[in-house]
Formats: sequence, structure tokens, C-alpha cells
Amino acid sequence: MSNFSFTIVDDTDGATLDNVKPIYDLLASLNMRTTKTVWSLRCEEPNNPYVMSATLEDKDYAAWVKSLQDDGFEIAFHGASAGSNIRARTIQGLEQFDKVLARLPSTHINHSRNRDNLYWATARFNSPLLRAIVGVNQKLKQWHYEGENPNSPYFWGDICQETIRYSRNFTFVQQIDLTAVNPTIPYHDPYRPYVPSWFSSCDGGTPERFIALLSPKNISKLVEQAGVCIVYAHFGMGFVQNGKVLPAVEKILREIAALSGGQFLPVNELLDSRSPAAAPILSNKERRRMERVWLWEKLRSKGTS
Ligand SMILES: [Zn+2]
Repeated sequence: MSNFSFTIVDDTDGATLDNVKPIYDLLASLNMRTTKTVWSLRCEEPNNPYVMSATLEDKDYAAWVKSLQDDGFEIAFHGASAGSNIRARTIQGLEQFDKVLARLPSTHINHSRNRDNLYWATARFNSPLLRAIVGVNQKLKQWHYEGENPNSPYFWGDICQETIRYSRNFTFVQQIDLTAVNPTIPYHDPYRPYVPSWFSSCDGGTPERFIALLSPKNISKLVEQAGVCIVYAHFGMGFVQNGKVLPAVEKILREIAALSGGQFLPVNELLDSRSPAAAPILSNKERRRMERVWLWEKLRSKGTS
């Protein structure tokens, strides 16, 4: 029987020890190893909406994150902190990561409006139409993303290139099998060279979207197609309530874990298994199609990025 692959990348927005530990206990008990992103340093922006999230500067949380890693989960980098990080702070964040986890991250995910984000907003797209649409909004809100700009104090592209192997780009709302829209996963994008390889993900950002994405119909499709499903979730945003994993979420995870033919690896190992050598170069045709599908889905629903 052919294998399907299933994993989750958990964005650390709003996460604390209390509001995410129960779901990791569940995943571990089901023998599912996934990827958890972290912030290394406390956010120094007092009005930042994620200022209360736990970081690797919190002793109990850091010890728990290390224990997750020891248990086979992947710990990934969500930037040095929840706010914009100048280069020195990114370096400090990677040092803190290394101090707590005794290794550097292999996966990185841009966060929200952080100025140090790499190839974000208009810079994500080659299509002139998409660049124009996204550019209007970006200009209006005066958002700036400069992680790949060597002349910016937020530049860290060269550090990313040396440290990180995988970064997430497009998140799709209506794809359960990513290979249907992104057969070359992971891929290298010569237009965005500071990131060695990119991957796409499926939108399970909130419990509602997670439940809708992982419907019985979609799961059957994933298994039948021996597909690849990388769910992008925010476990700290309501997946655990009153110390318990939401029953509907728990049910789904138990059902997926019980399926035969499933490969449940953290995202870096899943991508390594698909592309043991250097990732193949993304063709212009595949990029055009992905951008088109992303825009179409974005217009029809308000999914995550
Ligand atoms: Zn985030």
C-alpha cells in the first residue's frame, strides 16, 4: 500500500505551556511527531498582540520545549521574537535557540508583520497582477519587510542561507494533498535565493479551519492519493480549552493516527525524505499556477497567509 504523509507545523502565536502542552501530550501518545515553532526571546514591543506568548527565555517552557525535541518533535524558528528583529537580535535569538536546544533550527517561518520577514508580501510573488494587488494593501498600511535586503538593519538573508534548510511559503485553504498544486515540494526558488528550500502548507490555522480541512472526505482523498498534507495550525489559539484538547480536534487526530500507510514525521524529516539531495528548482509554470490558485482561494475565503 502506498503511503500518505501527514504532519503539522504549529505556529507559536499566543502559545504558553498551559495552552499547548495537552495537545503535544496527545500527539506523542499517538506516535505522531510534528513541528513546533518557537520564539527565542521575549518581545520588546509593549503593544505587540503576542507579547504574552511564552519564549525560550521562560525557564519552564524552555525545559518543556527541549523535552519535546528529545522526544522526536522538531523545534523550528519563528524569528527571534514576536516583534521586528534587527540583525543583532536575530543573531541573539539563534544563540538562545542553540543554548536551550543544543542545535540550530532547520525550519523557519515568517511571522505576521515582522520587518525581518524574508520575501514577504509583494516579494512573495512573481505575477505582476498579484504584486499590484498585494502592493496596494502593503503601501496603504506601510508594512515593510526587509529580511532579504542587505542594506536594511533587519537583514539576515545570509544567516538564513547558512542555517535554515526549509521555509514555508504559500498556505492553501482548499488543498488536502499539496502535491496536487505543488508537486515539486520542497523546491528551490532562484528568485528567492536566501531560502535554500521552500514548502507549501494547508490552512488549519484555527480549530474551525483545522476541522474543516481534515473532514472525513478530505482524509479519504489524502489516503487514496498517497498525498502530502502539511497542516499549518496555531495550537495556542483555542485548540486547548480548560486544559483539554477540543474533542473534535482530538477525534480527528486519533482517526488519522489509526490509518494504515501513514507517515507521521516532523516537517524537516518529511521534506528530507522527499528530496534527499538539494531541492529541485521550481519551474515558472508551477510557480504561476501556485500563485493563481493561492489568489483564487484567498479571494474566496479569509484563510491564513
Ligand atoms: Zn506567527
